Amino acid sequence: MAFDPAAALAAIKARDAYRQRRIVEGPQDVDLVVEGRRVVNFCSNDYLGLANHPAVLETFRRGVDRWGAGSGASHLVCGHSAAHHALEQELAEFTGRPRALLFSTGYMANLGVISALAGRGDAVFQDRLNHASLLDGGLLSGARFQRYPHADARALEAALAESRAETRLVVTDGVFSMDGDLAPLPDIARVARSGGAWLMVDDAHGLGVLGEGGRGTLEHFGLGETDVPVLMGTLGKALGTFGAFVAGSEDLVEYLIQRARTYVYTTALPPAVAEATRASLLVVREEPERRERLHGNVRRFREGAESLGLKLGELVGPIQPLVIGANSDSLEASRRLGERGFLVSAIRPPTVPEGTARLRITLTASHTGEQIDGLLDALAGAVRREA
Ligand SMILES: *Cc1c(COP(=O)(O)O)cnc(C)c1O
Repeated sequence: MAFDPAAALAAIKARDAYRQRRIVEGPQDVDLVVEGRRVVNFCSNDYLGLANHPAVLETFRRGVDRWGAGSGASHLVCGHSAAHHALEQELAEFTGRPRALLFSTGYMANLGVISALAGRGDAVFQDRLNHASLLDGGLLSGARFQRYPHADARALEAALAESRAETRLVVTDGVFSMDGDLAPLPDIARVARSGGAWLMVDDAHGLGVLGEGGRGTLEHFGLGETDVPVLMGTLGKALGTFGAFVAGSEDLVEYLIQRARTYVYTTALPPAVAEATRASLLVVREEPERRERLHGNVRRFREGAESLGLKLGELVGPIQPLVIGANSDSLEASRRLGERGFLVSAIRPPTVPEGTARLRITLTASHTGEQIDGLLDALAGAVRREA
């Protein structure tokens, strides 16, 4: 029997799990025009407002004049430009590692790195709530694949002690993308090291945001390359552009250039995107006030939510989800917020576990106090108190 997409769609709809795209009609910003309506955007990952920063845009335009639109080939053929190379060096310097390697997306970086570092006969250990791209990388690797309970270093320690695999790789998000909490990295790093495993951290939501210098979750915890030999970051979130990178030792990067299939067999990013990202990285370094504004906004939101009796986790970053439970209730809350002019997406399974549908609220440096207070006011009406 052939696959029946209509029946599959009907089943998705019956679970209130059907997802639709909204058409955005202007640049990515806090004030967004969506399908003809102005809304205040509380679901973007553009945490520092760099997707629309004048210096980033200007550098992007000059990049197009200098490099044209596309890269023309993969990095190993003839697509690796001086713009890519300079960005790699600057990312290495920023993360305090000998080398960095650009990938075209974070999804591809994770697939490529995990499947290059582990294979049949090896073991990969992952936090249950890791990003889908990490889990997919683990499956693709063909290694024995074990998920440990969320943020549970002791469970990881026990799993490592039981493993007989010679090569072990532990993989975790730095900041969990749908929960907003931090991995207990000092404990995870210690356990990984004593369990003879390599540690890879995906810092998609920490980079640019956490730590004094915006160097991410590792800086927040004071960890370095010996604790976390494989560091992955994305460029499409706080850095406001597109792409991803992996940073680590000289040998790690050279090995990935040889063996990471999602690096070898894909077209390099447009060089102009690399140039724009160099400008973003400079802003991350030179405008720490953006990070301060972001953290001030997070504080204002949390204080307001607390006085409304809304239950948020103990979260320090820009992702402040409000768990609702049922898919239909989260959709209804998101719809009510939309009526009041606030864009907050309802995140449902399979992105999050069954029964934990949520409003994923994200704060950025660009929100005003008034917009945050407005959201809180709308939340008071849209969400039942026990949420
Ligand atoms: C967004 C994200 C990715 C994927 O990065 P893209 O560049 O968007 O493909 C990977 N890991 C985490 C934790 C993410 O949040």
